[in-house]
Amino acid sequence: YYNNNTQIYLDGTFVKANESVTDLYGQTLHYGYGVFEGIRAYATENDTRVFKAKEHYDRLKNSAELINIPFKYNVQELVDATYKLLEKNNLTNAYVRPLVFCDPNMSLARPNKVSIMICAWEWGAYLGDKQLRLTVSFYCRPHPRSIKIEAKVCGHYVNSILATNEAKDKGYDEALLLDSDGYLAEGPGANFFFEKNGVLYTPQLGNILPGITRATVLELAEKLRIEVKQGLYKPEVLVSADSAFYCGTAAEVIGIESIDEKKFRKEWKDSLGLKLQEAYSEFVRKSEKTLSKIHA
Ligand code: PMP
Repeated sequence: YYNNNTQIYLDGTFVKANESVTDLYGQTLHYGYGVFEGIRAYATENDTRVFKAKEHYDRLKNSAELINIPFKYNVQELVDATYKLLEKNNLTNAYVRPLVFCDPNMSLARPNKVSIMICAWEWGAYLGDKQLRLTVSFYCRPHPRSIKIEAKVCGHYVNSILATNEAKDKGYDEALLLDSDGYLAEGPGANFFFEKNGVLYTPQLGNILPGITRATVLELAEKLRIEVKQGLYKPEVLVSADSAFYCGTAAEVIGIESIDEKKFRKEWKDSLGLKLQEAYSEFVRKSEKTLSKIHA
């Protein structure tokens, strides 16, 4: 992720990654009480574009405030800092990771000191580019009465790590998690869609992370005149589904071949997911200039 020359952004300045330190008595380190983002930057025909940068930093602010971490940063300044960070590290196609963390404080009370760091590195397709073999996890997503499910909180990812490890140990590529009522929810780090009779379905907001890629897929589906329904779906509906995919910043749009060895009826090449995968891949690589022309 970094070498001797890598720079990171830390509380308003750029510092060397291998010279920056954190407090071992930090609330984030001990209790997972911090928030983060995952953003991708793409080389476009004219420039580098940090895809939906404002939306990601708005969600970071919202995540922090939902769990009572004061967010004293200006979103536009963070967007500008991200472009500068990429430039300083000679990165174009990159993954960007902002983290808001609290230290030092061993109590469970509100934080003493809040910091922000942003780092970036080159990262290929997170879940690869082959269609995934999933298994429905033993673990369910945390109940929205236990945590703030719509916030991207560090500690929530223990649930994601447990589900991922379980899936890999059983020989699958990835897990599919239900919510605590047994409805389809999401992957450890991606939102879920399935296709049935020409219509796409995706779990409604409420028990899942409101994915920015999910929102982009909804926009693209509208442009492509693909109908999408959002609701509560039991896993049994997947038996008669035609295809499915995961979407997320790191994973982008990635097809799902089977769930617990039950293959979907349609080949990926014939699915609505493939159309959206192609549309997404093209959309994220359009420069801001091209986009403003399209919208004008
Ligand atoms: N669900 C979970 C649990 C995630 O961690 C992610 C990745 N941030 C997503 C969904 C997808 O969100 P996004 O499209 O904003 O990356």
